Amino acid sequence: MRVLIVEDELHLAEALTTLLKKQKYTVDSVNDGEAGLDCALSGIYDVIVLDLMLPKMNGIDVIKNLRAEGIDTPVIMLTAKSGISDRVRGLDSGADDYLPKPFNTEELLARIRALGRRRGEVVPESGMTFGDIELDTRSLTLSSGGKSISLTLKESELLEYLITNGNAVLSKDMIIEKLWGFDSEAESNHVEVYVSFLRKKLKYVGSETQIVTVRGVGYTLK
Ligand code: CA
Repeated sequence: MRVLIVEDELHLAEALTTLLKKQKYTVDSVNDGEAGLDCALSGIYDVIVLDLMLPKMNGIDVIKNLRAEGIDTPVIMLTAKSGISDRVRGLDSGADDYLPKPFNTEELLARIRALGRRRGEVVPESGMTFGDIELDTRSLTLSSGGKSISLTLKESELLEYLITNGNAVLSKDMIIEKLWGFDSEAESNHVEVYVSFLRKKLKYVGSETQIVTVRGVGYTLK
């Protein structure tokens, strides 16, 4: 698997390169947004780890340009900012996942593996349904009544988790543990961000299925 790191903090870029090489990944590392975009446009990478704040071109513009050129390589955005609006902007611009700095290296590795899997491995059973919706976890597509929309990996994982638990109520802690892992630094507002994205997408496909907030408990599908 080939990973591109775009990070201007040289210490961090070096540490990540060493870490990923230890995992037998092929790693290229560049230190500004323009160089990052140039490399990424080659389309040869399985995963791109992209810093948000970069010289010459910021991470969001790198992704926008990349997606505009039809390159759909999964991107994990690193962000020093913990503000929810930056995460939303990052995800809206086409990032598949984000990780606030400082992050746990194990968590980054887990996310790289998850995004890499989406490209490489064949998952035999990828479709599931609930009410009037259909989720394809392989193509990351949500459909209802002939309309479909693509999901990010996390959105798909969240919806899959909700679907497999039927009418059970899932707490934010359960969702965090499932999607980001037990030791992760993910907070409950991560969950809120993804729930709000999914709600918008359910609405977009015209589904009557809803993610219902059970006050003080969590979320369930209705
Ligand atoms: Ca930076």
